[in-house]
Amino acid sequence: MSFDFTTQSIHAGYDPLANGDAASVPIYSSAAFTMESAERGDALAAGEAKGFSYSRVANPTVDVLEKRIAALEGGDNAVAVASGMAAVSFSLLCAAEGGGRIISPTNLYGASVDAMETFFPQFGVHTDFVKDINDLAEVESKIGPDTRAIFCESVANPSTEITDIAALADLAHRHGVALIVDNTVPTPYLFRPIEFGADVVVHSTTKGITGHGNAIGGVVVDGGHFDWTNGRFPQFTRTELVVSDERNGVWRSFADMFGAEAYIRRVRIKYLRTFGAVASPFNAYLSLVGLETLGPRVGREVATATAVAKYLQTNPHVKAVNYSGIGTTGQDDLVAKYYPKGVGTILSFLMDGDESNVRRILDGAKLFSYVPNIGDARSLIVDPARITHREVPRAYREAAGVTDNLIRLSIGLEEPADLIADLEQAIGGAY
Ligand code: PLP
Repeated sequence: MSFDFTTQSIHAGYDPLANGDAASVPIYSSAAFTMESAERGDALAAGEAKGFSYSRVANPTVDVLEKRIAALEGGDNAVAVASGMAAVSFSLLCAAEGGGRIISPTNLYGASVDAMETFFPQFGVHTDFVKDINDLAEVESKIGPDTRAIFCESVANPSTEITDIAALADLAHRHGVALIVDNTVPTPYLFRPIEFGADVVVHSTTKGITGHGNAIGGVVVDGGHFDWTNGRFPQFTRTELVVSDERNGVWRSFADMFGAEAYIRRVRIKYLRTFGAVASPFNAYLSLVGLETLGPRVGREVATATAVAKYLQTNPHVKAVNYSGIGTTGQDDLVAKYYPKGVGTILSFLMDGDESNVRRILDGAKLFSYVPNIGDARSLIVDPARITHREVPRAYREAAGVTDNLIRLSIGLEEPADLIADLEQAIGGAY
């Protein structure tokens, strides 16, 4: 039987009969699990038997979250991690490790740009930035022998610009390159990149997936279709002790051992196991609780975001509104193709005046919380140039529309009229 998205967000990946009949997913806070017998312990350690032994590598509560998000994204497998940045970093390094290159736009969450611009190069992984990820000629001109992955956000934070995922996937696959998509802003309720050809999807589950702002987390989802043995990715075909059996003289690569699951198994066995950015069972539980309401919650938030964006367009102090859902990015064709239920719950807008006006708006808002997060049940306000995108070089920031007078909102579950009234009084008091 195949179930609707909303049904899966409540049930996928969980069997009460295998969990003490608990109706809701239990929190297995145990650090380790008995391996039962020497024979089973050996098979578990070799990766030949399925099961749990140590929570740095896998945990039953976290496992439900992984299975549920994989189902919601239409992926084969997932690995949950401690934060969205762990998911971004692990997914990109796992594809590009050992001297590979990434192609990416600059209109991304600030820490992702900073990682690719200043930090990954310290590990020998470089990024070729493009001005416009939807300019396929520009993207193709950057593909070289070392290119391993194209990275983008499906809906960019905070511009809400939409990436043409199907066209980009086509281009990437013609060159044997993987497409990795950060789908944090729309959540799988609004958009499922794997259905349009993406190979890997990452999330900051901190945001819309959890939806109540009480747990930092991330996830890497593997579509399971990409051929990691096509010659561009030596890390999957090289033999490695961690997947081999030295005592019996059997040497294997990740591709030998796991076939189509080579990528996601490497994320778990090398990245999670080594760097250790593990999702805690308690945070996984909090994310599962949030996931149960994903569809109804995001549906309401999108309707409110649309009303707020339209109100802002009528305010004389607002110079421009960025919310692709109401046509501000000139991408109506992409919105209609990919986002029939809406583009997400964040939007941004540009104020006239100077920095002092922006500060007065931030300080004057009473209902909106001034915090560097998105996807909460509470509505949030922030000035990206000084907070979420502070580490991004000015030229990149401004190309992505993150200028000094830009304000970002994340719309929650409050009454739309109350949110609009709060913005009206905060802006009114700032000039
Ligand atoms: N990706 C996007 C689009 C984000 O907005 C964020 C955080 O704001 C991240 C990744 C990083 O997530 P986390 O804060 O959970 O590490």
